[in-house]
Amino acid sequence: MRQITHFIAGKPLVHGDRTGEVFDPNTGAVQASVQFGTARSVDHAVAAARKAFPEWSATNPQRRARVMFAFKALVEREMDALALMLSQEHGKVIADSKGDIQRGLDVIEFACGVPHLLKGEYTEGAGPGIDVYSMRQPLGVCAGITPFNFPAMIPMWMFGVAIACGNTFVLKPSEKDPTVPVRLAELMMEAGAPAGVLNVVQGDKDVVDAILTHPDIRAVSFVGSSDIAQYVYATGTAHGKRVQAMGGAKNHGIVLPDADFDQVVKDLVGSAFGSAGERCMALPVAVAVGKGTAEQLIERLEPEMARMKVGVSTDPDAAYGPVVTDVHRKKIESYIQMGVDEGATLRVDGRGFKLQGYEQGFFIGPTLFDHVKPAMKSYQEEIFGPVLQIMRTDSFEEAVALPTNHQYGNGVAIFTRNGRAAREFASQVQVGMVGINVPIPVPVAYHTFGGWKRSAFGDVNQHGPEGVRFYTKIKTITARWPEGGGEESSFVIPTMK
Ligand code: NAD
Repeated sequence: MRQITHFIAGKPLVHGDRTGEVFDPNTGAVQASVQFGTARSVDHAVAAARKAFPEWSATNPQRRARVMFAFKALVEREMDALALMLSQEHGKVIADSKGDIQRGLDVIEFACGVPHLLKGEYTEGAGPGIDVYSMRQPLGVCAGITPFNFPAMIPMWMFGVAIACGNTFVLKPSEKDPTVPVRLAELMMEAGAPAGVLNVVQGDKDVVDAILTHPDIRAVSFVGSSDIAQYVYATGTAHGKRVQAMGGAKNHGIVLPDADFDQVVKDLVGSAFGSAGERCMALPVAVAVGKGTAEQLIERLEPEMARMKVGVSTDPDAAYGPVVTDVHRKKIESYIQMGVDEGATLRVDGRGFKLQGYEQGFFIGPTLFDHVKPAMKSYQEEIFGPVLQIMRTDSFEEAVALPTNHQYGNGVAIFTRNGRAAREFASQVQVGMVGINVPIPVPVAYHTFGGWKRSAFGDVNQHGPEGVRFYTKIKTITARWPEGGGEESSFVIPTMK
């Protein structure tokens, strides 16, 4: 069976006494075994990253940017192979895997501008003969811990910005789809990053804990579910690290009665069921505002859902493929049962879906609930599957209150032709990323990504200017060049007269 190893100091490394199974979600079969590292494996990776740091941080930013340019070209060269590799472990369809990789490359393109992004500020003559300037310097060894659902994009969000800024990096990918991150690390070496600049340690909680407590790791970026994000934030900061920890989500799409319903239904279907709903920016809740809105939506949604093809991830006609594991499939099905038990109306039931020839695959059909209520646990929690829940409100105010009061605050969307309502919504709603007639408002790479409330712990977002702030520290220099001998000692705090 294929073995997936760590990648440390520029080469594969077998280390650790445990392994995990990597499934092919299409067939349900175990396709590979992944090494689970230990605290010692993390030590090896951190030692390699520490060794590489002095030279890499002293490499001028333009040369570091050239490595990022070369990396981008190599990933583009390998796009088809990487997308296939990604789909075979994650289960998302090939076109969606290419989107996963491309969204990561967008951040690499942003990181190519690092010479400009690292420019500091300068004040000439802040006092008599005194100039003040600031510079952004890298932190040292940084680490990233990533979820299964974007095995290319999220690692690139993190290491792209960190490495361009002059840091060296230890990546701990999801144990469910660990192959693509290793390939990305190999391509970084091929692009010209010296050995040790990007290391990958495979594993589970043991590796995460070793990262969070390691004295030589300066910053940790995490993306995953909220309870673990909170734990990572609390443990990492308690050990003196800078931490950003993105968590789970439950994004609402607010549909006002004046919306373009044909378009909204297409947007809802794509964003609720694309990638089998395994996206933190999926839209699993549609809030129908006003009389008759829910009926109009359902009337159009049901035939659209019936037309949708669920298939293997290499099927070009499939809207989405299997979910990542059988454990996750069962969890989604238990949430569907919970919705039924709580009294929501199950309009379309995707449980028990079998794809002919792939009966052991981890498939679930698209599922639709109506009359979902705020008190239901199946609404309050993240399902992370192909399940769309419709809620009904009489007023705009009630609709805005739903995402505002929800424990998660990652993304939200409003569908309307009324600019004034959209503007008020964007201003009022307590959510980090807002779409106006845009169902998946993932910000472009040169803006920043991050939710509110239990969707993100820490103050600094991913990528864009905030990413650069996260992976650098500011130094401010106040300089004077006195002519010599003419000034007395001063015992009071210097002030500008
Ligand atoms: P997860 O929380 O199970 O795993 C994330 C990472 O944490 C993995 O690398 C995993 O190995 C590690 N981990 C798992 N259990 C751990 C433990 N007990 N202690 C320490 N580390 C542990 O998440 P997942 O299932 O891989 O990904 C799906 C989740 O990620 C969803 O909740 C989704 O909303 C969220 N997500 C959030 C964003 C965002 O930007 N807010 C983006 C993508 C995914």
